[in-house]
Amino acid sequence: MDNQTKKQKQTEATENPSIYSLQLDEMKEWLVEKGEKPFRVKQIFEWLYEKRVTSFEDMTNLSKKLREQLAQSFSLTTLKTVIQQTSNDGTMKFLFELQDGYTIETVLMRHEYGNSICVTTQVGCRIGCTFCASTLGGLKRNLEAGEIVAQVVKVQQALDETNERVSSVVIMGIGEPFDNYGEMLSFLKIINHDLGLNIGARHITVSTSGIIPKIYQFADEQMQINFAVSLHAPNTEIRSKLMPINRAYKLPDLMKSIEYYINKTGRRVTFEYGLFGGVNDQVEHAEELAKLIGHIKCHVNLIPVNYVPERNYVRTPKDQIFLFAQTLKDKGVNVTIRREQGHDIDAACGQLRAKERQDETR
Ligand code: SF4
Repeated sequence: MDNQTKKQKQTEATENPSIYSLQLDEMKEWLVEKGEKPFRVKQIFEWLYEKRVTSFEDMTNLSKKLREQLAQSFSLTTLKTVIQQTSNDGTMKFLFELQDGYTIETVLMRHEYGNSICVTTQVGCRIGCTFCASTLGGLKRNLEAGEIVAQVVKVQQALDETNERVSSVVIMGIGEPFDNYGEMLSFLKIINHDLGLNIGARHITVSTSGIIPKIYQFADEQMQINFAVSLHAPNTEIRSKLMPINRAYKLPDLMKSIEYYINKTGRRVTFEYGLFGGVNDQVEHAEELAKLIGHIKCHVNLIPVNYVPERNYVRTPKDQIFLFAQTLKDKGVNVTIRREQGHDIDAACGQLRAKERQDETR
């Protein structure tokens, strides 16, 4: 899309906020303001999250007047599916266009325990991890809670065709969720609510690159959701090379904030550790990592990282991945290796959107 078309779309985009941004109480307040009975909120939430309608017109047990008022005040279709790819292993990848013309990615992964969706929280990202394609264009804007919720609803609508359900949510797509903290929290509350998407807290995972003040704040929220930190390195030097955020939020301080989280919530933390050939994947790195985290309640998720064409990182050979994992196990650290999914489609973080952006510049 050229810049002029994008600008035009931004002008045309409705000013109405997404209805999916509203908490139950906020919807109730709005109804009361309009002279409606508060119990209508249950009906509206049922249409949104159980029946998953795509038009206010379809909310047939509401009066015509109320449906019109809803349509005048809110937007129901904030995402348009631009690309939907399905991999041989069932992984689905979606590229959605927002009302202002920006595009975002959402991925659905199939596991033995159910279908897990990976949502995006920002258009682009300003954290600047050196291995990440989505960092190339910087941060464009934060997503509203409703735009994050709509990703789950859209994917669920696609699954409705085969009678399947989104059973878990990971906030690990493009963007740093703690850099869009308020909207992320709103999103969590809506998808967790039994009248919302009713996804259990223990089936939701949020992952941060390490914004320390927000880790303390999140610990104090005392939510029962799973918490992951993108660590990717056993020491300051390597982490700063891979993740410039480490210069602002230093590794020793990050570890302190994580220990605070564990003490406060009693929950364990997952460390995401991407393996980059020759950078952080040697036995001595595994030993150093075990020293760094061995004393805390945690689990390490090793991620064999896809080759990112714009960067010089290469994949770690399979034998080396197993050796790395075994070294951690021998030191008493819980570890799993993430199963690779969607290999035949663009499954690495940011690749689809980066591709689209390249197409835009042609
Ligand atoms: S890996 Fe995540 S936090 Fe890092 S730049 Fe990419 S989207 Fe941002």
